[in-house]
Amino acid sequence: MLNFDELEKGFTEEEALAEAARCLKCKKPLCVGGCPIENRIPEIITAIEARDYQAAIAIINANSNLAIICARVCPHNDQCEGACVLNRKGEGIQISKLERFLAEKEMELTLNQMRDKIAIIGSGPAGLSVAAILAKQNYRVTIFEAQAKAGGVLRYGIPEYRLPNEVVEKQIEVVRNLGVRLETGVVIGEDLTIDQLFAMDYRAIFIGTGTGLSRKLEVDGESLPGAMQAIYFLGTVSLIQDGSLANRPYPVLPGDRVLVVGAGNVAVDAARTALRLGAASVRAVDIVPEKERRASDKEYDEALHEGVSFTFETSVTQIHGEDKLTGVTLQKFTRQLCGRESIIRPLPGSEERIACDKLIIAVGQKPFARIVSTTTGIKTNERGYVITENAPFYGMTTRAGVFAAGDVVHEPKTVILAMREGRRVAEALDSFLRSRDI
Ligand code: FAD
Repeated sequence: MLNFDELEKGFTEEEALAEAARCLKCKKPLCVGGCPIENRIPEIITAIEARDYQAAIAIINANSNLAIICARVCPHNDQCEGACVLNRKGEGIQISKLERFLAEKEMELTLNQMRDKIAIIGSGPAGLSVAAILAKQNYRVTIFEAQAKAGGVLRYGIPEYRLPNEVVEKQIEVVRNLGVRLETGVVIGEDLTIDQLFAMDYRAIFIGTGTGLSRKLEVDGESLPGAMQAIYFLGTVSLIQDGSLANRPYPVLPGDRVLVVGAGNVAVDAARTALRLGAASVRAVDIVPEKERRASDKEYDEALHEGVSFTFETSVTQIHGEDKLTGVTLQKFTRQLCGRESIIRPLPGSEERIACDKLIIAVGQKPFARIVSTTTGIKTNERGYVITENAPFYGMTTRAGVFAAGDVVHEPKTVILAMREGRRVAEALDSFLRSRDI
């Protein structure tokens, strides 16, 4: 039976040098005229004879960027090789095989310059930064991302009206163009473990998995239809908008009365998104006083301007509904000094029952334990954040060769902080691998 093995074999170095020596280096080279892109064939062959392969490759690359392909599939007999004057005396120069020899040499040289394989888990700002920095240093970088698309909170958290997905997409393209491979839909800790990644020859691993697990309100009824976490709400809206969940209805419908719990930036993004989906009213409550709210002044002012109402020192103490959410009980909270400690306590008699159709909970996030629970040696603090070193390798976890940065280490903060830490960790990771090589 015929097989699909490549028919033609390439030149060895010795054969290439012998073939190059046969070339007459014609003053008026017919081969150049025969080549549709006018490759400077005699110059290339002269450089091969001098064993200056880099120079020969540079001459080819000036005209062609698919030499390794053209060497195999061009109709050489009708082009450069067919035009060679040596055909008249016997056998013309096998230009295609010289081209192939050079193209393979180039690939070998390029691959030899490539450094170790590094796995990045998570494609938020921390992972993207580390990936870009290390790819520029010739490391072979693969990002493993649990979601179907890359970007982390930039794509699935921050709403379109503040950061269009198109912009995120362009930024990711820039990172890809540096040679970074992106494997989406792969959950590390489920589909692959850290130990498996090491067994796949990744010499170092970076964890930039953020804080995807929402904190609960710890009030009965949180799982009633109509009640949802802000991260889920924002992520679902984003997926519907980008067509991934095109047939699903939005989680907030026109006319809904929405109550948001929390007044941080995530809560404000959720409240403003609910308004954009046509909610009849959006009210946000937070247990802290107004001046202690976590939302930035800009976000808060814009939300007020758009029609979100805020009530402070108030939280939800009961969730009502049988098959679906129908309302909540709100209660006032006050701060009382208890010795040296200040404790927030509910104010008896301040309960107020209100009707609402949707409840969006935004009271904080923390990291998932999927990775640390499926491998050994990576310690976390009591709240689940990954512990990292300051020295000798900044950002290394308690397991050698595994680094971490971003929200999964320093708690939910900002994009710029995730990036800054990513940069520091990328530098340390490079030093770690160099020290191992020595
Ligand atoms: P993330 O951005 O959370 O990325 C983590 C990635 O890891 C995700 O893509 C996730 O899917 C992936 N992942 C998790 N586990 C796994 C696994 N096991 N396997 C594979 N992949 C995994 N900051 C600002 O500076 N300005 C803002 O305006 C702003 N607005 C915000 C709005 C919202 C709604 C939220 C939630 C946050 C906002 N932040 C803002 C905070 C900022 O987005 C985060 O601090 C930043 O995204 C953290 O980056 P990261 O790379 O550490 O994590």
